[in-house]
Amino acid sequence: MQKLALRWKRQSVRVGFVPTMGYLHAGHLSLVREARKRVGRNGKVVVSIYVNPTQFAPTEDLAKYPRDLKRDLKLCREAGVGVVFTPDDAEMYPGRQNRKSEIGNRESFSTYVVEEQLARVMEGVTRPAHFRGVTTVVVKLFNLVLPDVAVFGQKDFQQAAIIKRMVRDLNFSVKIIVAPTLREADGLAMSSRNKYLDAEQRAQAVILFHALQAAKAAVSQKTISAARLKSDLKEFFTAAPQARLDYVEFFDPETLEPVAQVKLGTQMALAVFVGKTRLIDNARL
Ligand code: AMP
Repeated sequence: MQKLALRWKRQSVRVGFVPTMGYLHAGHLSLVREARKRVGRNGKVVVSIYVNPTQFAPTEDLAKYPRDLKRDLKLCREAGVGVVFTPDDAEMYPGRQNRKSEIGNRESFSTYVVEEQLARVMEGVTRPAHFRGVTTVVVKLFNLVLPDVAVFGQKDFQQAAIIKRMVRDLNFSVKIIVAPTLREADGLAMSSRNKYLDAEQRAQAVILFHALQAAKAAVSQKTISAARLKSDLKEFFTAAPQARLDYVEFFDPETLEPVAQVKLGTQMALAVFVGKTRLIDNARL
């Protein structure tokens, strides 16, 4: 991939990049369209499909993460993607599983990129090693694809904030675009993980969206304390017995600092277990 990317650089071809874990849906394809818009007809759009092991904890769904490369490639072809980059673990993390990876072992993978501030809250609490895996793989992918523009989804709000911070802190020249969340007809945010839900769980999963709507409605009239809203939302979730609230936070969209008073413009994010499936969503109130 890097050889091709270097050739494009020499030819001044603009490159737009959409990193994904595959099992593509319309949300991913909206990022592809955004990338195309940014690089123009003469530019190249690259989509990577890689289920990155370093962002999964041992207890998480790495092994059963949904995959359908044939379908993904077809969708990419139809969307006018120039190159689909599908590296494997041996290419991305040579020697990572090497049990003898001690000092002096030249085979082992031992360099990670860590954002130390924004990664501590929300997803970082429930999934402590997650963002280290994300920032590391994104840096590796940036170095392989050499994009001018990279498009991420607002659906993963904290991830996008961390990538933007990393790009600023480490002087990457890539421009980061954050594109809106695409939703199903009833409001559930599109996600590859929605495939895990059975019919009953799928029906109840829309409670994430309804919680965002309810909070929006509540603060459209007046400022409310975060503690009060959180306790109201806990109550709200009793309506969906299959759903268990992991966290709900109200925070400043730039710093991710929690706010005591929630008002219009505050960012809200939540994570919810529906059965065993963990779903996230967020919105600007
Ligand atoms: P994933 O394959 O889940 O790692 O997601 C790859 C990219 O697609 C990330 O930047 C996500 O934020 C973005 N994405 C995921 N779901 C959606 C959605 N419903 N709408 C827009 N972008 C999304």
